[in-house]
Amino acid sequence: MDQAPHMTPDEFRRCGTALIERIARYMEEVEQYPVLSQAEPGSVRARLPRTAPEQGEPFADLLRDIDEIVLPGITHWQSPNFYAYFPANASGPSILGDLLSSGLGVQGMLWATSPACTELETHVLDWLVDLLGLPEGYRSSTAGGGVIQDSASSSTLTALIAARERASAGAVNEHGVGRCPGGAEGPRLTVYTSRHAHSSIEKGVKIAGLGRDSLRLIDTDERHAMRVEALEAAIASDRAAGALPALVCATVGTTSSGAVDPLRAIGELCRREDIWLHVDAAHAGSATICPEHRGLIDGLEHADSYTFNPHKWLLTNFDCSCFWVADRATLIQALSVLPEYLRNRATESGTVIDYRDWQIPLGRRFRALKLWFVIRHYGAEGLRAHVRHCVALADWFAAQVEESEDFELAAPVSVGLVCFRHRAGDAFNEALMNRLNESGALYLTHTRLDDRQVLRLAVGSSATRREHIERAWARIVETAGALSPEMLSD
Ligand code: PLP
Repeated sequence: MDQAPHMTPDEFRRCGTALIERIARYMEEVEQYPVLSQAEPGSVRARLPRTAPEQGEPFADLLRDIDEIVLPGITHWQSPNFYAYFPANASGPSILGDLLSSGLGVQGMLWATSPACTELETHVLDWLVDLLGLPEGYRSSTAGGGVIQDSASSSTLTALIAARERASAGAVNEHGVGRCPGGAEGPRLTVYTSRHAHSSIEKGVKIAGLGRDSLRLIDTDERHAMRVEALEAAIASDRAAGALPALVCATVGTTSSGAVDPLRAIGELCRREDIWLHVDAAHAGSATICPEHRGLIDGLEHADSYTFNPHKWLLTNFDCSCFWVADRATLIQALSVLPEYLRNRATESGTVIDYRDWQIPLGRRFRALKLWFVIRHYGAEGLRAHVRHCVALADWFAAQVEESEDFELAAPVSVGLVCFRHRAGDAFNEALMNRLNESGALYLTHTRLDDRQVLRLAVGSSATRREHIERAWARIVETAGALSPEMLSD
């Protein structure tokens, strides 16, 4: 073959129209699919040819295989009956923004490699400072600023590396973990988070080379939030043993129960102790678009960095995690390496942002487009309506649980998240969840709180309406009623 069979713009137009039509139909039909995929392990691969095609195939064949092979292997995260984990909601404007990002095919590692990719991102993150009620010090016109990462895990890892370098005065980047200039043993750098914090903190500590045994999982109170006295005691004990506390990660909305750590008290402690405070609000951060939920981030002005995921609850397709720092110079110093081939006049002028220095990889997608499309399509008013709708549905569900004789709340209701359990015990709750999920009618996941099995219902899909949540509650009650009596106790 002399020439690769590139799709012509005209073929692209035809295939693209067919694909958009297929996605629109999926949106209309998504409710009809069993929410949790019923596929058996290996069943998707068993339907795929063993080797890749030698000749190119018609696009229609690809579309057919989407229907016949891919869709049966999909768990429908956009279903109105999806209540598992936290949502990863999507929306029309976001899908189109993502498509445009692919269509433009930009790689925005430097300002110079596509100025609009950088400047739109900076601008949208400044908009979000206003929209979410974040501290002024995160605005790009100050010493701080924001960037879009692929995930909260990456945001947290980035914060850990910046904190590691700040605490060691750059020694770890120069000499490696645990070594001071000249090769002498350096102090152990320690990290603190609550025992209900997300696993991405432990993963970040491992990747940053600090070692899992440098991570302190701080005790929590009856609301599953970090105990500040326990944090203070752990820091004091580490200092007495010669360690150097580097970072505290507080959570606004833990994954298990939506617990909110006391940011103000933790922040004041971190200021006194000169420890980097990172705040992980991956899910609950979206709620502060509503003024009535701003209390969630009271004290955030003491934080050195903050992350929340529009790809969870703010109608922006995965992946899109916003990350702000109060002092961008420290971050850039920790991550910047400038080889000759990346040098350019704009960078050397010192007047532009090069986001490659704000993240782990070099290359980066034009993610700001989808977020910009979402904010412009919905407006702040529309986004607030979405959050309020989900919160109201979760609150309605929680009220049913409270009124029921058989079920109880297992934690204070958080924004859009209800933790509850049947009073009959762990085995019963597990059996109940499995039956519900196998039915395909809805999808819930679980956690453990106070050493008891707990079911979590997180509301976040743009398609979920009151009738869905009413049906979910009816189904839960009916399924529990039909479970065999021998399962009624542990
Ligand atoms: N932090 C919290 C509180 C989370 O709930 C999650 C995921 O659910 C994460 C971090 C990880 O998010 P990501 O998948 O963007 O890394």
